[in-house]
Amino acid sequence: MMGDRDYRSVIKNAIDSIGRELEIEIDAKNIQTIHLKEVVQCLRRSYYDRIDPKEVERRGFNDLLSGLLRKLQYGSDPKEFAIDDIKLRGQADMLVDDSIILFRPTHSTPESPLANDLLYLNACMWIYDKVDGMIVYISGDREESSFSLTRNKKMFEEIVRRVRVLNDLLKEQKTPILEPSMDCMDCQYYQRCYITKKNTKQVSLAEMLGMGKDN
Ligand code: SF4
Repeated sequence: MMGDRDYRSVIKNAIDSIGRELEIEIDAKNIQTIHLKEVVQCLRRSYYDRIDPKEVERRGFNDLLSGLLRKLQYGSDPKEFAIDDIKLRGQADMLVDDSIILFRPTHSTPESPLANDLLYLNACMWIYDKVDGMIVYISGDREESSFSLTRNKKMFEEIVRRVRVLNDLLKEQKTPILEPSMDCMDCQYYQRCYITKKNTKQVSLAEMLGMGKDN
């Protein structure tokens, strides 16, 4: 009989291997192609993902939702947008009747869309040259809420700026600054960003007080 511990590790391994299959493939050496996913999240995280990656911890099948949709027949093909000599590459989860649709898992239905989802959706509208889009949040208990958006130039200019910054920092091999947010709590690089190791030497109280062992 399968013990509770084994059962959990089987599920975790399954989620991890499906997650790896569904990940957007990024060629770490090709810094002239920047992926949309990299610039809507913390740039420092994207930099570490290319330079010194650590596997992300996936929490459940819900996290695989948009990757699965991209791989299915509904998924649109990835598309590129030229920014001087850099290519910004994005992929929408679904393209229906000239509208971009993104699906995002959530614990509870949100009151408003998350900023990085809005940035992703808006950039997809520029990359695919569409004017309308929608984000659909689906919670574990199958509740859903959706938000629509009309494309916005200023928001896209921010993405273009971040593409240039990440490209420059990768070229110069400089680690981007911290971008503290709620995402840090689930980030695999949390320890690198916030916990510094100190070289501590164990000192006894007697030594601190200047007293030898023989005293
Ligand atoms: S812990 Fe926060 S600041 Fe550090 S890489 Fe992750 S998301 Fe960025």
